[in-house]
Parts: sequence; C-alpha cells; structure tokens
Amino acid sequence: MIAVDAGLCVLCGLCTGVCPPNALDLTPTRLLVLQNCSGCGRCVPYCPVGALSGGRPAARRGKRDG
Ligand code: SF4
Ligand code: SF4
Repeated sequence: MIAVDAGLCVLCGLCTGVCPPNALDLTPTRLLVLQNCSGCGRCVPYCPVGALSGGRPAARRGKRDG
C-alpha cells in the first residue's frame, strides 16, 4: 500500500495519471489512495515533492517515461 504525506503533497495531480488501476483520487483538499491500489509503486517516482512512499521496491526502479 502507498502512503501519502499530506504535509508534502501539493495536490498537483501528476500521480493520478500514472496509476494503472486509477487508485489515486485527487480531491480539492487531499489525495486519497483507494482500496484498489495494488501497491505497485509506479506512482512514487512521479511525485515532484516526494510525498508518496511505499510500494514494491522493484517497481519503484521502473521506467519514468510514462
Ligand atoms: S502504488 Fe500503483 S496502484 Fe497504488 S496508487 Fe501507486 S500507481 Fe496506483
Ligand atoms: S504527485 Fe505528489 S504532490 Fe502531486 S498530487 Fe500526487 S502525491 Fe500530491
């Protein structure tokens, strides 16, 4: 499961576009991680402020070209 540091998140929404199952839901006040998050870690390197953590280490080393 992915953790969002709400103190760091600037609600830019960049991460929501790279999640395969659309498990990231950007609301006006916070980013929600929905139940269907697989913990793949794909979203983690896309966050410009490092607000996302967790997921599978191997996936976090994956491509950033999405
Ligand atoms: S870890 Fe994977 S499934 Fe979960 S929110 Fe990030 S990209 Fe989506
Ligand atoms: S990419 Fe980072 S800062 Fe932007 S909405 Fe996602 S968690 Fe928040």
